[in-house]
Amino acid sequence: MAYNDQNIFAKILRGEIPCDKVYENDYALAFRDIAPQTPVHVLVIPKGPYVSYVEFSEQASDVELAGFMRAVGAVAAELGIAEAGSRILSNQGEDGHQEVPHFHLHMLAGKNLGRMIKPIDK
Ligand code: 5GP
Repeated sequence: MAYNDQNIFAKILRGEIPCDKVYENDYALAFRDIAPQTPVHVLVIPKGPYVSYVEFSEQASDVELAGFMRAVGAVAAELGIAEAGSRILSNQGEDGHQEVPHFHLHMLAGKNLGRMIKPIDK
């Protein structure tokens, strides 16, 4: 899928739309989700134009990949969530119900999150 620079996270990166920033480095920006699904719900996005984790993994440089994952750890430290526990996930494509076409990780914490997903519904 071609990257559309009019998506909401591209606008946040350009400063056209405000966000509740948690952390930023040269390669990533982390901010609180506007509709949190857990007490702590932070989104981490790369600064480069990648639609999904698949594209990011395939196309980003080693420096971008490292900078992004370092940011994830820094966010966990900033939020103080590692000891109690947390979850990261990334929705991708239609089956994954990805709504915003700019790769992002959801960082979820602040309560017992239960099992990862419901038992498989065949
Ligand atoms: P997705 O379904 O693409 O994995 O998740 C997109 C997430 O972006 C949703 O959890 C939604 O609440 C969040 N979101 C959508 N628009 C905005 C916005 O303008 N600001 C912030 N902070 N989060 C947003």
